[in-house]
Amino acid sequence: MGLYPYFQAIEESEGPVVRIGGRKVIMAGSNNYLGLTTDPRVKEAAHKAVNKYGTGCSGSRYLTGTLDLHVELEKRLAAFLGKEDCLLYSTGYQTAQGIIPTLVQRGEYVVSDKDNHACIVAGNLMAAGANSLVNGEAKTITRYKHNDMIHLESVISKLPPEAGKLIVSDGIFSTSGEIVDLPAMMKIARKYNARILVDDAHAVGVIGKGGRGTASHYGLEAETDMTMGTFSKTFASLGGFVVADSVVIDYLKHQAPALIFSASPTPASVASALAALDILEKEPERIDKLMKNARKMRLGLAAMGYRVGEHDSAVVPIIIGDTVKVLRMWRGLFDAGVFVNAFIRPGVPPGMEMLRTSYMATHEDEHLDKALEIFKDVGKRLDIIP
Ligand code: PMP
Repeated sequence: MGLYPYFQAIEESEGPVVRIGGRKVIMAGSNNYLGLTTDPRVKEAAHKAVNKYGTGCSGSRYLTGTLDLHVELEKRLAAFLGKEDCLLYSTGYQTAQGIIPTLVQRGEYVVSDKDNHACIVAGNLMAAGANSLVNGEAKTITRYKHNDMIHLESVISKLPPEAGKLIVSDGIFSTSGEIVDLPAMMKIARKYNARILVDDAHAVGVIGKGGRGTASHYGLEAETDMTMGTFSKTFASLGGFVVADSVVIDYLKHQAPALIFSASPTPASVASALAALDILEKEPERIDKLMKNARKMRLGLAAMGYRVGEHDSAVVPIIIGDTVKVLRMWRGLFDAGVFVNAFIRPGVPPGMEMLRTSYMATHEDEHLDKALEIFKDVGKRLDIIP
């Protein structure tokens, strides 16, 4: 039916506008939040790193894959996020797998939000797998209703008081754009002897003081145990990281198979992330522009009659609630010149089939006004809005 929306090859990118199938379309689905993938300073840093170190590290951080660039980025990120130390991984996905099964051991528990990102689910399953061999049953993983702190407390209160527990949550949830209720979570964690891991993939560079993420958004930097993130969004690159106390980072460095047995991020990736961090620190006004752009779209789409997520982040989901309608909308928008993401089951629960839209600091009003016009025309034509 020509409705398949995935693996569309981008032939050229200016950031807010990309070329696909020989046509320029407005990109309204990227996580390139600050628009830095095409920033000349970031590109220059990548070129310089290739010239100095070559194209790859050809080894794990443990052995031949540590460059001075990796160490510098770890120091800079730890300082930026107010933690003692930091560890880089090769992707954000790998980061969750490098933390959760490594830290959560026999007789200990993961307490996880039901809507957490797939990398956390994968990390949880690895932790459960390792344990089930010993215990005969995989009850290491407990889940609570999405961002429901009353349910979290009811789940965690039933676990053995003396056992180690790790509460894991997205900071900003990747499909809804919702922000976790960290203050309430923290009170529960302290009461029941648990630690917290927040995945700030969609929050660093977006919320908090100068883009310092969820803990900073709530003024809870000092109390936060661990924050992980990715370079594939705000940082315009590829790779992942976790910040925590030195003792935790040192343990992960020597125990996490996802780090020890996988090659380190490439020189160009690390240099790009460093250059992006420089820009984030020097130009916090980019965050204001990003949020202004996302708000403009959220309000504009809601005014047309779309059901949109109400959370103040760079992610603006348009909930359609039907797979075929999502795919038809995707196609209509694409043909008219806007690229968005079609999220259907099992990526989202039944009833939550959606177009996930997200915005950049480098979208100008002309891009957004044009996109809104297209959303209106296509939505009316397909009977999604009145
Ligand atoms: N966590 C969340 C919440 C994400 O949305 C993503 C990427 N979609 C990741 C982790 C994985 O990051 P990466 O792309 O670096 O593997």
